[in-house]
Amino acid sequence: MADGYISVVGSLNYDILMKQERLPMQGETYTADSVSYEGGGKGANQAVQCAKLGVPTYMIGKVGSDNFGDILLEKLDGYGVHTDYVGRSSLNTGLGIVHVLNDGAVYASIITGANFDMTQEDIRQMEDIIFNSRIIILQMEIPVGIVEMIIKKAREHGVYVILNAAPAKEISKEALQRVDCLVVNETEASFYAGEEIKDAETARQHAHKLTELTNGTVIITLGKNGSILCDGNSCTFIPSVKVDAIETTGAGDSYIGAFAYGKYNGKSDEEACRFAARIAAVTVTKIGAQGAMPYLEEIE
Ligand code: ADP
Repeated sequence: MADGYISVVGSLNYDILMKQERLPMQGETYTADSVSYEGGGKGANQAVQCAKLGVPTYMIGKVGSDNFGDILLEKLDGYGVHTDYVGRSSLNTGLGIVHVLNDGAVYASIITGANFDMTQEDIRQMEDIIFNSRIIILQMEIPVGIVEMIIKKAREHGVYVILNAAPAKEISKEALQRVDCLVVNETEASFYAGEEIKDAETARQHAHKLTELTNGTVIITLGKNGSILCDGNSCTFIPSVKVDAIETTGAGDSYIGAFAYGKYNGKSDEEACRFAARIAAVTVTKIGAQGAMPYLEEIE
């Protein structure tokens, strides 16, 4: 295992997942089949996948001063994620309510809560830990100004930056230019490319718009249809691994955590993507995100 550590700066949510046949109709109180309580938020999910693969991982983010916050930190600790730099906000912990229908369809609503209470001052106080990382992973479930600030400073410190630009929203061109690896799914890719990207063919066709934006590596994930890895010169198709998928929440987060593990261990982009596809395939065979992500021992 290489020296150093990965920092994930991002969101933490408490997710309530209900498994049910269908959604309720208006005015109806519908009885779901089962419920589970999970740690969620793209940031925390990606941190958990890194830690489960054995990478020393720091989570940087904010939860509320409520019980949900306590539970999330306990769960992260249990998976081996360092949580000393997760702050407490006077706002509620981020919350997700997710309905997973028996046919696999997912309906989710979230409250961003404490995740949007992260300030530039918070980041300044944690500069030592953040910018001494080997790799920083960011998403867009915290204020975009914070994401931009970290990307800029990471470049000054020579830290490799992975940006999972999800959910898709405006971010400064200057920041995007400094990202080493941009990871997006079809929806996000379409937003940033300004073109409809819905499969491997359209991803290949329009990927250059994204590589020009970032000046680096771009990965477009396509769910069960695999992913495309592009640099300024060419694109490589990475097939997904065939499995009986039960529920795909967290597939992208698992993929990104595993890709970061690969980069951390000195693998090429392509090797890291192939490994990530293997790991994400395991994650989709179980319900939930963090709990479903595999430990390194499980796949060896
Ligand atoms: P997101 O959750 O961000 O939308 P995707 O759904 O594109 O991400 O999934 C990310 C990766 O996870 C895919 O590129 C693929 O490798 C893997 N994956 C997703 N769904 C499946 C599936 N049903 N079977 C096998 N692998 C999958």
